[in-house]
Parts: sequence; C-alpha cells; structure tokens
Amino acid sequence: MSVATERTTFSSVNPATGEVVAEHPVSDDAAVAEAIERARTASEWWGDLGWKERRLRLLNIKGALTRNLNRMAELIHQETGKPLQDAQLETIMAIVHLDWAARNARKTLGPRTVFPGVASLNQKAVLEYQPLGVVGVIGPWNYPIFTPMGSIAYALAAGNAVVFKPSEFTPGVGVLLAELVAGVVPEQPVLQTVTGLGATGAALASSPGVNKIAFTGSARTAKKVMAACAENLTPIVAECGGKDACIVDADADLDAAADAALWGAMSNAGQTCIGVERVYVVDGAYDAFLDKLTEKARDLRPGFDREAAYGPITMPGQLDIIERHIKDALDKGGTAVVGGADSVRKPYVEPVILTGVPDDSSAVREETFGPTITVHRVKDLDEAIDKANQGNYGLAGTIFSKNKSRAMDAARRMRSGMTSINAFASFAMIAALPFGGVGESGFGRIHGADGLREFARPKAIARTRFTLPMNLTSFERTDKEMARILQMINMMHAKRYKR
Ligand code: NAD
Repeated sequence: MSVATERTTFSSVNPATGEVVAEHPVSDDAAVAEAIERARTASEWWGDLGWKERRLRLLNIKGALTRNLNRMAELIHQETGKPLQDAQLETIMAIVHLDWAARNARKTLGPRTVFPGVASLNQKAVLEYQPLGVVGVIGPWNYPIFTPMGSIAYALAAGNAVVFKPSEFTPGVGVLLAELVAGVVPEQPVLQTVTGLGATGAALASSPGVNKIAFTGSARTAKKVMAACAENLTPIVAECGGKDACIVDADADLDAAADAALWGAMSNAGQTCIGVERVYVVDGAYDAFLDKLTEKARDLRPGFDREAAYGPITMPGQLDIIERHIKDALDKGGTAVVGGADSVRKPYVEPVILTGVPDDSSAVREETFGPTITVHRVKDLDEAIDKANQGNYGLAGTIFSKNKSRAMDAARRMRSGMTSINAFASFAMIAALPFGGVGESGFGRIHGADGLREFARPKAIARTRFTLPMNLTSFERTDKEMARILQMINMMHAKRYKR
C-alpha cells in the first residue's frame, strides 16, 4: 500500500507484482461522520423491515455474492497475493455464514415468552433482541471477505446498518461487497464501505453515532480502538491475533496430523489468525511426525502463479518480524530443519520448520504471521496442554488423537475460544459455532447464535395479565400479606439439599 496526493487517495497494491490494483479515497472524519448519519437512517428503515423481509434480502445478497464469487476471489487474489483457489474457498466460507445468519436471525433473536416464575404467574414475560442501530466493522487484510463477514452478516441479520472500514491493504474487497449489497437493497445504504488508513478506522471508533464496534486485527490496534470507544462507552467485540498450538498425541494419525499442521502453518503464507504456529508432539510420535512434516514442507513453493502453494507476505513490514523471529530462535539454540534465516526473500518467505526452540524465544511467544512453525517434543499430553496454554494469546488450537475422550478432555483444557480435533480449524466452517478468543486474542463472539446476540440488545418486557389478590410493591401492603409471602418463600426455598 502506498499513499498518494496529500492522503486524499491511496492505492491498493498487488504485493506479488507491485502493481497498483486501484486507487481509493482516504475517508476523513467528515466523510466517516456522513456515512454514520446515512447509516442511522438506514438502520431505522432496516430495523422496521422485520425478520421476513430482511431474511429475503440477506439471502439475495448471498446469491449476488455467489454469482460474483470469481470476481470477488480474483480481487482478493490481486490485493492479498494469496492463491486464487484460497480466495475462492474464503469467499465460500463467507457465503456459508451469510446464509446461516439470514436463516437463523429470527429464531435466535425474535420475541419469545419465558416462564415468569411461580411468584410472577400473573405476568407474561417476553424476551426479544432488538438491533443496536449502527455497527462499525473494522477489518484486517488476511481474510478480507471471510473475517469481516463474520461481523457484517450477523450485524445485518440482527437488524443493524453497518459502516465497514476494510484494511488499507484490501479496500477493493470492501467496495465490491458494498456494491453487491446496494444492488440487492437499493432503498437504503445498509452496508457502506469507508476506505482509508488507520485514521479512518479511528474516526469510526471514536464516533458517538456508532452503537458498537466489531474490530478484527492486532491486539495492539484493538487497545487503541477500545480507548477511543471508551470516550462514548461504545461496546466493542475484539477479534485479535493468536499463537495457536497443534497437539499431536502418541496414537495420532501422523499423516493426517502432518498434513493439517502444514496447511495450518503455511497456507496463506502463515498469515492466519488461527494458523498453527507451534506443534507439541508426544515423545513416541515425535520423530515420525517430524519426518512426515519436513518431507511435505520441502514440496511447498511460494509464488503468484497457479502452481504456487501460497503467496507473498501481504504487508511488507511483516517480513522483518518473521526474519527476527527466525534469527532469535536460531540464536537461542534452535535448529532450522527446513529453511532458515535466508528463507525470507522479499516478498516471499519459503517454509521454515524450527525445532529445539526455547519457550522464551519470540518464535514461541509472539505472533509470527509467516510460513514458519516450531515443533516441540513433550513427554505426554499434560505437558503438551501446559505448553500450549503458555502465553498471552488464546484464540484456537488443534488436537490430533485417536482416543476420543482424551482428545475431548484436552480440547476442553486448552485455553482457547475454539479447538478442532483431528482436522485444522474445522469450527470456522460451522456457522452455528461461535468464534472468538481469550486473553490477548480478544473477547466477544462472532458466528452462531452468540454472534447474532453480539449485535443485539436483549429487551425484557413483563406484561401484567391479571392483578394478584395481594400487591407487595404498594404502600397498601399489610403485615398479614407480608407474613404470608414469607411463609410461602420458606416453604419453597428453605429446604436443605442432600447429595
Ligand atoms: P491491524 O491491527 O494493523 O489493522 C486492523 C484494522 O484496524 C485495519 O483496517 C486498520 O486500518 C485499522 N486501524 C489501524 N489503526 C487504527 C486505529 N487507531 N483505530 C481504528 N482502526 C485502526 O491488523 P492487520 O494487520 O490488518 O491484521 C492482522 C491481525 O489481525 C493479526 O494479528 C491477525 O491475527 C488478526 N486477525 C484476527 C482474526 C480473528 O478473527 N481473531 C481474523 C483475522 C486477523
């Protein structure tokens, strides 16, 4: 990305070829404020449309995206440099989420009656989830359609209007998405895209006109966004980085584990928030696993052609971080069994597999975001979990084991928002499952019913169906009535429970 003419426009650049993909406006504070104002009106119209009409329009947006899948994927390919098929797969995942959000919004958020409790039997208790209004979505570049769609689809389905600030590395994806939505919903701009750099995102986050910010990006930026949101008490959902671990049990299918670990670590050039960055292998399986992993890794070649396994590093600044992590690992006594410090060849990084890397090195502690992986020998599953749970991040993780109960137990003990067993990141394609992290990986959830509720406000309504013979919240209350209620409460709740 380079900035042109006094920052009124900027270019998105193909990271593989250096060619300019397109010029986009830098939306300043005034442009962002105008978009938010338009979104306010749109949100009222969209909210009043009702579940059925919104569902219909969202399903048609899905249809439009599906018919434009190749156009969207080509743009992602150009802006990020990732292989076209990966861009297609990413778009398919976005379509799956849009479909689920459209079909499940009413069931999850629509009005329902709940049991009012014995003491309130004269009440009808209604729970419903109302839209928040205007949701600001700030997105990253690594999965420029899948990641923001996790917020956009669910926020729209909950009845909100959205102002989307895509990454400055992938602005075209956001522009095309807004164009497709406008084609289906011409009446009001329910999704607007404001392009720009960090300052455009900051203008969105600091606006009192935004009812919630859905941020996806680094933990460092999330803290700035939270600070801006604090001014207006704007709530935020934060989807940040990770340092995810893959655990390989002694009895695991090692071919499948090596295949998944390699894809998890190297696909998209390792630029995946839920990518595998560390592998902990139980002693008996370590040597065989490492052999399989290194053999497969040697076949991988980065590039921009159709045969390339993965593309360039999208954000040039990341190359220095990747190089620093590799050098630090080697300086601290680690061994590069595939690649090494000279694997960083701008704009590409060839596969790097490191072993014997100490726990305190940056390659084990910090998000590398490159096609590198550290492999560690551990004595058992307990040690693997202990090691996997070290550090500040806690986004996702993978367990390979043939023993179902051991795998489930390890998955539960893993300090992460998501864990997949015997596959890499299978949860991401299951729209009904929530997605989000713990610790520095963020908080709040996108996807699934929790993701819909993230963009809605619970509304409680208690309607009096008939008046009770006694009214305890009245100055007319008598001592006799109070004594009667105390007696009733004693009968109902004073009991001692036995095991
Ligand atoms: P980033 O934090 O640099 O930028 C994210 C977005 O924030 C961009 O649109 C950027 O313009 C905007 N921004 C920058 N400064 C801002 C400010 N002061 N106020 C408001 N917005 C601002 O992250 P990135 O490099 O685009 O993305 C990579 C990171 O995202 C990695 O850490 C990755 O793990 C994470 N990520 C997380 C998930 C997830 O779901 N948890 C998904 C994808 C990526």
